[in-house]
Amino acid sequence: MKIGKKFNQLMKSEYIHYIDNHKKYTDFNTLGLYRSICENEKLDVNDRIEIRDYAHTVFEKTFNFYQLKDPRTYFNVSTLGMELTVADEQQLWKNIITNQQKILSEKKIKHRSFGVYSKHDCGYEHCPYNGLMVKKDSYFAENQMCFTSDKNEYAAKEKSLKIKKQRKTKHKIIRDDLDL
Ligand SMILES: [Zn+2]
Repeated sequence: MKIGKKFNQLMKSEYIHYIDNHKKYTDFNTLGLYRSICENEKLDVNDRIEIRDYAHTVFEKTFNFYQLKDPRTYFNVSTLGMELTVADEQQLWKNIITNQQKILSEKKIKHRSFGVYSKHDCGYEHCPYNGLMVKKDSYFAENQMCFTSDKNEYAAKEKSLKIKKQRKTKHKIIRDDLDL
């Protein structure tokens, strides 16, 4: 059987149905499910939290692995409804980086198996993403999202130069990003 619809178009009750019956649907995609929880415009924040918590009862182990596979989705879904200070966010990113290392060593994944990943390295000493394993060439690997550097004038200049450079390859990068 197929769901035949995008997750980000589902109503809350449909999410519950498809989570309960996920084994029956050949096109059920757990990462797609979690991503849609933040993207689906039919849901308010309470719905999103409820669906996330329900999904976790079935898929929590898989979700933990997204710290490596798709840290942005992991972060966004984990922090739904929370009001975070910059310091809170930085601490959460540090935790994700620590957990990535744990996942890699627990699963005894050899580094070369993760050739598609590289470490975030934007050059800013205090960037919260330093050491974060991200898909090579993904938007996340760039300093685009480094909020600590936003206040820094020098960084802003560097960033605008980088963005100019990126513009050319933007479409390709976004495609690759969606393809995680
Ligand atoms: Zn950075």
